[in-house]
Amino acid sequence: MKKPKVAILGFGLVGRIAALMLHEQYQLSIFETAQTPDNNGAGALAAAMLAPMAESVICEVDIAALGVEAMALWPKLLAPLALPVMYQQTGTLIVAHQQDMGDLRSFEQRLKPLAGHQAQHVFSQEIAQLEPELAGRFHQGIYLPSEGQLDNQAFYKASFEHLKQTECQFYFGQSVEVQHDERSRAQVNGQVFDWIIDCRGIGAKKQLAGLRGVRGEVVRVYAPEVVLNRPVRLMHPRYPIYVAPKPNNEFVIGATEIESQDDGPITVRSTLELLSAAYTVHSGFAEARVMAIKAGLRPAFSDNRPQVSVKGNVISINGLYRHGYLLAPAVVKQALSKELL
Ligand SMILES: Cc1cc2nc3c(=O)[nH]c(=O)nc-3n(C[C@H](O)[C@H](O)[C@H](O)COP(=O)(O)OP(=O)(O)OC[C@H]3O[C@@H](n4cnc5c(N)ncnc54)[C@H](O)[C@@H]3O)c2cc1C
Repeated sequence: MKKPKVAILGFGLVGRIAALMLHEQYQLSIFETAQTPDNNGAGALAAAMLAPMAESVICEVDIAALGVEAMALWPKLLAPLALPVMYQQTGTLIVAHQQDMGDLRSFEQRLKPLAGHQAQHVFSQEIAQLEPELAGRFHQGIYLPSEGQLDNQAFYKASFEHLKQTECQFYFGQSVEVQHDERSRAQVNGQVFDWIIDCRGIGAKKQLAGLRGVRGEVVRVYAPEVVLNRPVRLMHPRYPIYVAPKPNNEFVIGATEIESQDDGPITVRSTLELLSAAYTVHSGFAEARVMAIKAGLRPAFSDNRPQVSVKGNVISINGLYRHGYLLAPAVVKQALSKELL
């Protein structure tokens, strides 16, 4: 029997997760603006931290709880992939320099209670056990033991390699829009599909009212003199940053959050702030090699909550803001469950 035809618009983070969930039951056609499968959209440059507790400081509690649910889905999504993808759940350590203890305390007070997730206030000895190379540098911190992260670059590679082996058809270098014919049937590039899943992130701005970009800038470095076992966040009144360790001595240092639609290259100011703050976490970053400095737009609605809308046979999944890795497995599953899964 012929499988129903589904178009996926955008092969970024959400598009990949949708494709992994759908490819066995549907004939997928995947359209992507970028010429290559590995270097596109916000998901390609993100730090890919899975931090429901830390993020609860700035989001509603139901979003953080959804993040907890979604974290449990990642190992299932990654299991069938032939190429390895680092997935880690060894917590997040949050630290502050002595003069910024007020910021650490304020962060701790704003953490929302999440069932089964307990923040631990840690002192010099525990910090040294968790991160031996930070011993003596920080005297107080907060440890969020159930948080995690993954290697987004490896996920991009492994998901493409996996989907390439299936019946999916890829159309790279194609910037597409949903068109409607005289009977209001949605089409893409003149082709009719049973379903169209719009996962274009900020690329859907013209069609999705209220969607905006929130600029984020990150630096990726190679730092063989630094060993960190888990993401470390530095509380700072002006330059709060995180340092997320990735395989092969690479680290993602980020991220600015700027209300701007500008997706141009990173500024000197942001570069200086991110790298200076990282250097105060670990002086080994002085000798690090800068591999990439990137800026991108997080797709967000005015309430910074994800949004799923269904119009006819078009399902739009967007507005993942700074929580795409944290939330997408659960949001995409919910979006597809009613009609397609
Ligand atoms: C600096 C930074 C750090 C981040 N860190 C984290 C983090 O630590 N944890 C976390 O959970 N989230 C993080 N995020 C957020 C996360 O990356 C986003 O929420 C997520 O990528 C959104 O997924 P998406 O698929 O909707 O959009 P994207 O990942 O941007 O993918 C959209 C895709 O659609 C394609 N496209 C656009 N227009 C068209 C078109 N017309 N036709 C065809 N294709 C099109 C794009 O090229 C792209 O491939 C971060 C984001 C940034 C920018």
